[in-house]
Amino acid sequence: MLVNSREMLKKAQAEHYAVPSANFLDMESIKNHVLLAEKLGLPLIIGLAESHLGDNINLEDAALVGKKYAEQVSVPIVLHLDHGESYETCKKAIDLGFTSVMIDASMKSFEENVETTRKVVEYAHARNVTVEAEIGHVASNFNENDTETLYTTAESAKAFAEASGCDSLAISIGTAHGVYKAKAIPEISFDSLNAIREATDVPLVLHGGSGSGDDNLSRCAKEGICKVNVYTDLYLAAMKEHDESDTSDYFKIQKAMKKGMNECLTHYYKVFGTK
Ligand SMILES: [Zn+2]
Repeated sequence: MLVNSREMLKKAQAEHYAVPSANFLDMESIKNHVLLAEKLGLPLIIGLAESHLGDNINLEDAALVGKKYAEQVSVPIVLHLDHGESYETCKKAIDLGFTSVMIDASMKSFEENVETTRKVVEYAHARNVTVEAEIGHVASNFNENDTETLYTTAESAKAFAEASGCDSLAISIGTAHGVYKAKAIPEISFDSLNAIREATDVPLVLHGGSGSGDDNLSRCAKEGICKVNVYTDLYLAAMKEHDESDTSDYFKIQKAMKKGMNECLTHYYKVFGTK
């Protein structure tokens, strides 16, 4: 069942669990993630980041395959654009049938972030599509020019949610994208999370879930995070199974990678307490 994220995240918020947002890099992973969700009888968000568009996958292909598989299963599936970098990309994804978009203007000023997000919200809401935005900044271990974490304050989260009209809000409380240096588990500011949750009713989103520690993530899900993005760990799990499979057979390689991803996503469903 293809849905937007509104009811899915409100339910998660009310029942104190989080829904995984599994990122995909190719069409095979879309099928794989959706069929696993159906097998487990659980909701799922499948996300494609604008930075991953290219030879391997484009928005048109993702929309076509994403809609096909989402519509053929009984569990709710959100087809989500992750880290949309402009109004134009968000509009394109919406026009193609994505049911949720993230506009990431978190590196702009507060006013510009509100203005850009509002514009996407207006276009999206007229088409029954939900919008995620980000305030504060989740740094990236992929990019050495983007390593500064800007923690989200409760005041800015509240003011931003009201002014922008976004449906969910990615906050920065200590996680980062990619693999943590020396594989250290990050320190999460639960004080920040609790203050933000008390200040605003907007469902909260955590990016950089991979490698952040099961105890941390489980607690985040219980204390107000409704959606956790998982990307790096899915692909590390796939590559690990591939390496260990010791095969050069094309089908066996695919099967091994699929097994790795499925085990990883199943694990995170348990950690997040998804219902
Ligand atoms: Zn992210």
